[in-house]
Amino acid sequence: MIDLKKSTVRWDRENYVPRKIYGFDAKPQKGTPRQIAERFLMENSGVLKIGNVRKEFTYDKTAESLATFTVLFQQYFEGMPIHGAWIAVHIDRTGRVFMVKNDTVPVFKLEKKVKAKKAALLPAARIVEIAKKKAQEYGELETAINKEKMIYALKGNFRRAWKVKFGTRNPAASWILFIDAASGHVFDERNVLRKIDGAGIVFRPNPVVTLNRDDVLDLKDKSQEVFRKAYKKVVLKDLKPGGTLKGRYVDTTKTAQYARAADNAFLFDREDDRFEEVMTYYHIDSLQRYIQSLGFSSSKSILDRTIRVNCHGTPDDQSFYDPSPGRHDLTFGDGGVDDAEDAEVILHEYGHALQDAIIPGFGQVNEGRAMGEGFGDYIGASFFARYKTQPRKVKVAEWDAKGYAGGPQECLRRLDSPKRYPEHMEGEEHADGEIWSACLWKVRKVLGRKKADTVILESHFYLNQYADFKDGAEAIIMAEKNLYGGKRTKSLTKIFRECGVLQ
Ligand SMILES: [Zn+2]
Repeated sequence: MIDLKKSTVRWDRENYVPRKIYGFDAKPQKGTPRQIAERFLMENSGVLKIGNVRKEFTYDKTAESLATFTVLFQQYFEGMPIHGAWIAVHIDRTGRVFMVKNDTVPVFKLEKKVKAKKAALLPAARIVEIAKKKAQEYGELETAINKEKMIYALKGNFRRAWKVKFGTRNPAASWILFIDAASGHVFDERNVLRKIDGAGIVFRPNPVVTLNRDDVLDLKDKSQEVFRKAYKKVVLKDLKPGGTLKGRYVDTTKTAQYARAADNAFLFDREDDRFEEVMTYYHIDSLQRYIQSLGFSSSKSILDRTIRVNCHGTPDDQSFYDPSPGRHDLTFGDGGVDDAEDAEVILHEYGHALQDAIIPGFGQVNEGRAMGEGFGDYIGASFFARYKTQPRKVKVAEWDAKGYAGGPQECLRRLDSPKRYPEHMEGEEHADGEIWSACLWKVRKVLGRKKADTVILESHFYLNQYADFKDGAEAIIMAEKNLYGGKRTKSLTKIFRECGVLQ
């Protein structure tokens, strides 16, 4: 038996229970850590004021550290576990108990405050109903409801209760509720999902737009003083624990030597290869949240999942979405200006992923592929138009175009092409895509940003993988009709007639 006079003890003065005892003399014991711990508790039950070890405690587990074993027992009362009531026996590698921690509840208190109360208890089915109602308040129930009858005894608050756990989506959360077993009152609720926001520095969408100048150059990825005013400090939302750029909608850890920051501060300038990861994370995350804000969320969501990205996947000046089974991921190239340094290139590629999420295998015909390119250009330009001066609104990826092998260009592509269908079709999807993006841009002028973005996204649900321009145009007119009553049918039809897509 341990001698408290020869030990260091931390007392619980209210209950006269020793909460922590160490510094006592004990000899190394034979047996497994569990056997040693059980013998120790039985010998010292009087000192610890814990009553009958075999009856009131259940062995839970043994945790192993480099130098020790920690054996855990949970306290029970009337066959139910008591929340937070544990004993931990700490044993060193020689089998010597060197510390015991005692967070148990004195039995006389349980007798007085729990046993003596004879209230009728609610049936388990009623508890499930209460939990379901709560889940509806929080979002949408996504997991099974896990429930456990227990005794709650924290901070002098004694009662019979149910501990209920479930997960929700929209927003994602992991809930633990404590429900009073007699009254059904939810007296404690907490979200234990660890949501982390990080900090980042990005271009939004790129330095040509922000600085409103066309004379900036890549200079082999050099930092350069001129870019100082183009950086924006942003919040990186919903990062998973672990200190990488892996979160709810984006995961950049496919990138070689991907960014790590234990404090979730991802503050790099363009010279640093990790800058493109921050760009990718922030801009895809922002677009996905915007799309959800338009109503494409929960059961109507588009690509409500984490997309994997390799931000430096090829030395070439190209980027792509890979629709292969098991991949469905994005790759950005480093030729010229690193592609992921221009957010319009990032959103263009994500546009392909969005289309593929709605219509797997989209773009089986030339015109479908051109619609893919045109949509990608549109979605980025529409999203970033608010940051641009008027003449720049129709130019796509102006910064990326400053690093072309043949010398700097004005932009990658435009949204105001005068090309007509079918006479200006070239059979190259990016060139032909300008016919389509010009139509989409006119749709935006007629409907305004939010309605146009909504209608254009909605229209994809009316297409299949063989869709051509005509199908695309008809789908946009249908979508406007279904969403907003068809007030703009005439103006929309006119757009597609003028460029020759509709007769
Ligand atoms: Zn593309």
